[in-house]
This record gives sequence, C-alpha cells and structure tokens, in this order.
Amino acid sequence: MIKALFSATALLSIIPSFHLSAQDYRAQAIRILATVPLIDGHNDIPDAVRERGGVDSVNFAVRQPRLMTDIPKLRAGHVGGQFWAAYVPVTTMDSGTHAAIYALEQIDLVHRLCAKYPRSLAMAYTAADIERNFRANKISCLIGIEGGHAIENSLGALRMFYRLGTRYMTLTHWRSLDWATASTDTARRGLSPFGKQVVLEMNRLGMLVDLSHVNDQTMSDALHTSKAPVIFSHSSGRALANHARNVPDSILKLVAVNRGVVMVNFNPGFVSEAVRVSDDTVNARLDRLRAAEADSAARADSLKAWSATGPHATLAQVADQVEYIRRIAGVDCVGLGSDFDGITEVPVGLEDVSKFPDLIAELLRRGWTEADVKKVAGLNTLRVLRDAERIATEMRRQPRR
Ligand SMILES: [Zn+2]
Repeated sequence: MIKALFSATALLSIIPSFHLSAQDYRAQAIRILATVPLIDGHNDIPDAVRERGGVDSVNFAVRQPRLMTDIPKLRAGHVGGQFWAAYVPVTTMDSGTHAAIYALEQIDLVHRLCAKYPRSLAMAYTAADIERNFRANKISCLIGIEGGHAIENSLGALRMFYRLGTRYMTLTHWRSLDWATASTDTARRGLSPFGKQVVLEMNRLGMLVDLSHVNDQTMSDALHTSKAPVIFSHSSGRALANHARNVPDSILKLVAVNRGVVMVNFNPGFVSEAVRVSDDTVNARLDRLRAAEADSAARADSLKAWSATGPHATLAQVADQVEYIRRIAGVDCVGLGSDFDGITEVPVGLEDVSKFPDLIAELLRRGWTEADVKKVAGLNTLRVLRDAERIATEMRRQPRR
C-alpha cells in the first residue's frame, strides 16, 4: 500500500499539470502558503470598524457575515501579513478639520485591534518581523496611511507617523494635494518640489511610497525621484481595465526598472473592462436621477436593479491581471492588494479574505511554478520592504545636504 501511494505521488509529479483536479491545486496552494507568508497590500477594515463604533463594537474572533475580513476568514485564507489602511477621507482637507488627527485615530485603531487578538495578530514594522510572526503562526499587522493629506504638509508629522508604525503612505486619495496630483484630476501636473522632498524623506525613513490613486505624471515623477522601490498597494493594469486608478504599461515598465511591486486590486471595475464600462453607465444614470430630483430610495432601487443585470468580474480575470503585470513588469514586480472591505462589489470566486488560496490555485493551474507563485503571494513584498530598510539605513548614514 505504501508502495502504491508512493507510485501515485511519483506519477502525479510527472503527469502534465492538466490532469490535476481543482482540489489538488488548492491543496498545493495551501501547502505553499504554509511556507511563505501571503501579504496583502490593502484592506480597509480599520475604517469599517470605525464606522461600526470602534474596536470594542466588533468581535473579530468570530465570523462577521457582513464584513469581508475577520480572524476566522483570515485564517481560512492563510493570510500571513496585512497592510491595514489608515484611510483618511479627503473631506478632512476642508478647513476646520484635521487630517493628521484622523490618521492618528486610524493608526490607534490598528494598534488596538491587533492588541485585542494577541493569539492571532501581531504588529510588524520590518520584513524580519513578518517572518518571525509567520513562524509563530501569527498574522502580521502593518500600517499604510491612505492619503498624503494626513501629514498636513509637515515632514515632522511624516517622521512621527513612521515612528508610530506606518510603513507606506499613499501619496493622494481622490483629491489632489498642492504637492501631488490624484488620478481623478484633469490637471497634468505631478509632484511639486515639496512632493519630491516628501518622497525622499520617506526613502530616508524606510516608508514605502505608494502610488495607487495618483495620476500618471505623479507616478512617473515619484519613480524618477525615489531611491527605493515603490509600491502600488491596490491597483491593477490599465490595459485590461481602462480606469485612471490602474497602472498604464509605460509606468509598469518603469516599475520593472525600479524593482517595485504592483499589488493587484480586486475591485471589479478595476479588474474587468466590461464592469468598468457598466459602472460608468450606472454612474451617469444615477447623475441623471439626481438631476431629476429622484429620492434616495428610488435611486437605491434603480441601482440594485442595474447591478443585478450588469456584468461581473471573476477570479479568472484577477488572475489575468496578475499575469498581465507579470508580462509587462516581470514576475518580481507583482503582488496582491485586494482592497477588501473598501470595495462594495467583489469578483465571483474572490468574495472575501478566505479566498486567497483559490487565486493561488488558479495561477498553479495555469502552469505557474511554485517559485513564481511564492513571489506573488508575499516574497516580492518582503523583498521591497527589505530593500527600503537597507536604502533607509544607507541614506541616514549620509549627511543631509
Ligand atoms: Zn483606495
């Protein structure tokens, strides 16, 4: 019997991969994720928790059917590290409010969330922390500030955010700053001289420069300024879904030179061109309803009806995005940045954080090697963190000009 089993295993390894079943690929994915931490670049649970009343109002130890993220789902998804978004709404840029305080509160929330579940979660500030937590069977919690308005134009605030554990900052959100331009802005300008100073200070600290949400000129300026690899914490390829939030080929080629990582966003409108077009049509119809002064209930009903008949994105299309970015930027420059709990719609097959192994299994089914799958899952992000740490150490040794 032992001999028979051995023969079956030996046979499996030489039979061409199309003979393996979906379950075999899933088992292989889970085996791989036991050796390499899967690191996701962007999850919006902090703001979702804040909206529900804060850390004490939500029990993450049990399943939360209305959320895409909780500890049982993270465990089922074999997640090894998560960048939690310290998302700062652009309305905090308006006079009378403080973006920095909002960011501080989000960072506080991540620390408290992590501390509340010490058996499953642990803070991480370095690549080595992630590896150590992974060996201890804990999910690393990393902090990324979403929106450079959080620093309120203060490099001192930026430095203090680093000390509080922030390891990336998305330069803008939906609204442009005076030093960086958002993807949704029609203005062509990119980084101002102060914006370039922010990027270099982030390099000096060892905080990753996140180019999701910025416009093409800002992407290009940051890539030409940064001394460390950059990331796109939650963006996909524009060639496959023509959304301004996605990364064009010209920039993917610069990312390859910079050795950064583009972490694929699962938002259906960023993944699938059909969904993007449909979303645009729906938004135009909603605008017309608003102009006609339709009440909010009528608008919600219409939206529901349109969504039910509209196209859906699929797990296979997310895999297409991963493969596309590999093709243009290279296998060392692609990762995962789901945007779970920040997106309202999800691809079929990737409904929540428990589904990551299915995406890895799909890549294996397409013939990806285990070595390449490990890079996408987490090794590329670990490498970028390590590079940023090394470059920060080098820059701090040099006297300031
Ligand atoms: Zn975002």
